[in-house]
Amino acid sequence: MGKILGIIGGGQLGMMLTEAAKKMPERISKIIVLDPNDDCPASQVGAEQIIADFKDKDAIIELSKKSDIITYEIESGDSDILKSVEKNAQINPSPETLKIIQDKFLQKSFLSENNIPVPDFIKIDSIDDVREGLKSYGYPALLKARRDAYDGRGNYKINSEEEIKKAYEYFKGQKLLLEKFVPFKMEVSVIAARNTHGQIKTYPLVENIHERNILRETIAPARVTSEVTKKAETIAEKIMDVLKGAGIFGIEMFLTQENEIIINEIAPRVHNSGHHSLQSSETSQFEQHLRAILGLELGNTKLLRNTIMYNILGNLDFSGEYKTPQITGEGLFLKMYGKKISKPLRKLGHINIVGLNGESIDVLLEKLKTIKHKTIVIPSD
Ligand code: ATP
Ligand code: MG
Repeated sequence: MGKILGIIGGGQLGMMLTEAAKKMPERISKIIVLDPNDDCPASQVGAEQIIADFKDKDAIIELSKKSDIITYEIESGDSDILKSVEKNAQINPSPETLKIIQDKFLQKSFLSENNIPVPDFIKIDSIDDVREGLKSYGYPALLKARRDAYDGRGNYKINSEEEIKKAYEYFKGQKLLLEKFVPFKMEVSVIAARNTHGQIKTYPLVENIHERNILRETIAPARVTSEVTKKAETIAEKIMDVLKGAGIFGIEMFLTQENEIIINEIAPRVHNSGHHSLQSSETSQFEQHLRAILGLELGNTKLLRNTIMYNILGNLDFSGEYKTPQITGEGLFLKMYGKKISKPLRKLGHINIVGLNGESIDVLLEKLKTIKHKTIVIPSD
């Protein structure tokens, strides 16, 4: 008999997890997502939905009673509530791991205690702490919300003394940390998996290009030397060693001018920079996550073909119903998330540009240039 899978969050990540789950009916018989938005992306591909806020205690209890195994696509769930429903369903990654990761201060403290390099950081309890911190870090530096940040929305870059007050007030009573700015040469990431028996596998290092703090493009593999790749993968494995819990972890890193790797942050879930795996690898990160939490042997993570993932984002100057972009062609894989409304910079879909015939990254980048205009989201008539 297959298991009933509960997912907290039914956005695009929940959607692609649901699609992967549907391909293993003998292991997973039903998928239920908890999401506040009616007709969320995951429900459109066959997940049942409980409509409630991600932190709604009664809804989480209901989900746990209906599920055999629970996972999540967002890290903002209430780890204490999740801990309390562990008697009803197995939860992966574990609430203990979630608790550390979902708080950027606890996460960075944990990593540095385990000798994993992170940017210098301090806990902030008052505006004077910010002033003090900036004296040693200099400008710019980043003031960050400890919790519930995504797409850079929990970050404020302080460029000068004049901006301190504005930055501090921007966060209105949230718990904060201050972080030294890293003048990185590249952002890279590793998608890593651990199954419930402790087997660990990592996907190859990829290169991430952000625009306005949001991931825009992932290049798989990263255009770095084999020494850098080795270094990043070694650190990723070390992180997986010290961090408990089963599932996929997205490990975001900075590559410094001196070719050192510093960890930016870890997401305890499938990650946007792993979407290339839908076509580049034998096992997508979504299938791998399910294999990990079900305790199955992990699948092959080898990169079979060069791939570029390009996010389709809502236009800055438009909110409303939009025309679904039409992009077809050999090696082009468009994935839209079924969101009815476009909002500025909202993630509406992505396209994978895949080197089916062994094309190099440079060739794929040229191909991306020729289709970029088709990814622009325009209002529907
Ligand atoms: P996500 O975009 O992954 O949802 P988030 O909102 O939690 O993440 P971060 O990952 O902390 O935000 O930061 C977003 C981006 O801001 C990073 O990818 C990086 O480009 C930039 N950034 C964050 N911290 C630093 C730093 N210490 N130095 C330089 N740039 C930074
Ligand atoms: Mg990030």
